[in-house]
Amino acid sequence: MKLLEYEAKNLLKKAGVPIPTGIVVVDNRSYKTTCKTPTVVKSQVPTGGRGKLGGVRVVRKQAMLASTINEVLGLEIKGYKPHTILCEELLDIDREFYLSLIINREKSCVELLANTAGGVEIEDQDHATFLRRKITPNTTESLGELLAEEYDTPAQSFVLQELLASLYRCFIENDATLLEINPLVLTKQGNLVAGDCKMTLDDAARFRHPDWQFEDAPADNNFVTLDHEGTVATIANGAGLAMATMDAVRAAGYTPANFLDIGGAATVDTILKSFDRIVSFPHVNAIVINIFGGIVRCDTVAQAIVDAKSEMKSLPPLYIRLSGNRAEEAAELLKHEGLALYPTLQDCIGAIRA
Ligand code: GDP
Ligand code: MN
Repeated sequence: MKLLEYEAKNLLKKAGVPIPTGIVVVDNRSYKTTCKTPTVVKSQVPTGGRGKLGGVRVVRKQAMLASTINEVLGLEIKGYKPHTILCEELLDIDREFYLSLIINREKSCVELLANTAGGVEIEDQDHATFLRRKITPNTTESLGELLAEEYDTPAQSFVLQELLASLYRCFIENDATLLEINPLVLTKQGNLVAGDCKMTLDDAARFRHPDWQFEDAPADNNFVTLDHEGTVATIANGAGLAMATMDAVRAAGYTPANFLDIGGAATVDTILKSFDRIVSFPHVNAIVINIFGGIVRCDTVAQAIVDAKSEMKSLPPLYIRLSGNRAEEAAELLKHEGLALYPTLQDCIGAIRA
C-alpha cells in the first residue's frame, strides 16, 4: 500500500523526523483562513515526478492561492487525479539530498541508500553513485557519521545519527517496505527537513495495525497491491490458486498489479469492491478471474460478476476461467451477457491483448 506524501509525513512526524509545517486541503473551502503565502501547493498523488509535471507549485501571492489549488486539484499526473492537496511552508533550500530505507530481499536486511544529489533528477543518477549500507539499530550512529561525510555536512553529523535512528524505527514500527526522502532538504538556516516522503507499507501486515486509515486503503485483508504500475489484475478463490494465477500472469511476461483471494463466499458486494480497487490502478488493462468451484458455486460467482459489471461504467476486459461446481450454469450466464469464458488459465492469459 502506497501512502500519499502527507500520510507518510504524518508517520515521520510521529517518529520525530522534522517535516515542514503544512496544511492538508481536501476541498477548496478550508484553506482561506488557515493557509498563508508564501506556500508550496503539492498534489497528493501516489507517484513521483510531480515537480516536473506541474504538481508542486510555489505560490507567493495570497490572491493566487485559490486558483492554484483549483488548478492542481484538476491536474492529472501519470493517470492519477488528487483528492487532497498539501500546502506547506516554503523552504529556504540550500542543498537537496536523497535518502531512503528499503528491504534488500537477497541479503534479508534493511538497506540505507543515499546520494548527495537529491531532488527531481534522482532517476537519472548512476547506480554506482549511491551509498548503500545495511542498517540496524546498532549502526545508525556510525552510518550517521558516514552520511555527514558523504553529504559533506560535518556540522550535521549528530542530527543525521538521530535522523537515521528515527527513520529506522519508523520503518520497522510501521511495517514499511520503502521509506524514501527526496529531497532531504538542508535549509539556509542549517536545518535538515524531509522535503518529500514516499512510503510503502506491507499490506500483509495490516492485521497488526488496526489504526491504519489511508486514502489508498485495501477493500479487505486479502487484497495485496503488488505493483501500482502493473497491467494485469487478478481475482481468484483460495490463496494457493490466487498465487498460481499471479505467477502465471508474470510468467507470460505481464506485470501483475495485485494478489486477491476472494475466499469462499463471493457476493456482488465483494466482486464490486474488488473491481473498485482494480480500476484505481492507472495501467491495468486486463482482469484475469480464476475460480475453482468447490463449496463455492461457479454460477453464484458468475452472477456476482455480471451484476458488478453492470454497475461499473468502465472496466478493463475480463478473462474468466471457471471450473468445478456448477460451471456449466455459470458459462450459460456469462455467455448470455456476452462475456467470454476460457477453458484454462493459460487460454485466459493467452487471450490478453495488452
Ligand atoms: P516530486 O517531484 O513528486 O518528487 O515532489 P517533491 O516534493 O520532491 O518536489 C519537487 C521539487 O520541488 C523539490 O526537489 C524542490 O526542489 C521543490 N520544492 C518542494 N518543496 C519546496 C519548498 O518548500 N521550497 C522550495 N524552494 N522548493 C520546494
Ligand atoms: Mn520528491
